[in-house]
Amino acid sequence: MALSFRKKVFRMGLLFNQRGLCFGVANHRSLAWAIAKAAHREQATVGLVCQNERTYKFAEPLANDISAPCFTCDVNDESMLKETFRKAAEAFDGLDFVVHSIAFAPPSALTDEVSQIPRDDFKTTFECSVYSLLALADCAKTYMKDGGSICTLTYIGSQFTVPGYGLMGPAKSALEACVRSLACELGSQMIRVNAVSAGPVKTLASSAIKGLRSQIAKLPEQTPIHRELTHEDVADAVLFLLSPLSRAITGEVIHCDNGFHCAPCGLL
Ligand code: NAD
Repeated sequence: MALSFRKKVFRMGLLFNQRGLCFGVANHRSLAWAIAKAAHREQATVGLVCQNERTYKFAEPLANDISAPCFTCDVNDESMLKETFRKAAEAFDGLDFVVHSIAFAPPSALTDEVSQIPRDDFKTTFECSVYSLLALADCAKTYMKDGGSICTLTYIGSQFTVPGYGLMGPAKSALEACVRSLACELGSQMIRVNAVSAGPVKTLASSAIKGLRSQIAKLPEQTPIHRELTHEDVADAVLFLLSPLSRAITGEVIHCDNGFHCAPCGLL
């Protein structure tokens, strides 16, 4: 009889005993949903947060799939944000992680002629896509009694001017700077703050960016790792930053883009 030396490993989930919120679930394509699913897979207690009644219709059935609560919250509404955190922390008896997967720019701000962007559209873009991270962190720190992890999503448009990305490029640069500032501010409370810079994947938000479809199609030829990028790739990178495996990492931006940031002009 052949003996098998293969080890049987029963692994505890990476987020076992961790409680958290994923902001930015609009539908089944949202990166926030992929992250929530991955967190659930790794045994976290997770809550989904969507923007309004319209997105709730899509988010609530997803939340039911993983037996998670679903909250509605417009992050520009300060009292709604505070109330969402209060309710979630009460239901979970505290919080250990928060995912900020939120961005918005009016169509006029997604122009390459950034000098033409109206002042109010600049404010809207930065309030929703950048300030909201600060507002979330401020609420989260109250409930992260034993430290925690906050993770946001960014894009290589923060480093290079990507056609069609318009003002979102400067907004993502500011978001990454906020990650570093928050990391310094909250480190003494053992709260880590990081970002994943994701390569392009199809979502509601990305469909607003001209030329993104062709960028996605060309990506496997242009990246050091010749493969398609998936929502699950991005979700697992976020999971790492939420988990104790990244306990000494804060203020960091990790690229999850099959290596596109090393060769951004398709030069390979
Ligand atoms: P998405 O449209 O599914 O998610 C964006 C979310 O932001 C939506 O759920 C929307 O409702 C929410 N939102 C916007 N304004 C809000 C407000 N005032 N209050 C509450 N929620 C609000 O698209 P996505 O691609 O999953 O985007 C998530 C994050 O990932 C964004 O920060 C985006 O810039 C980033 N990102 C996406 C890609 C990509 O290719 N999809 C690449 C890099 C980074």
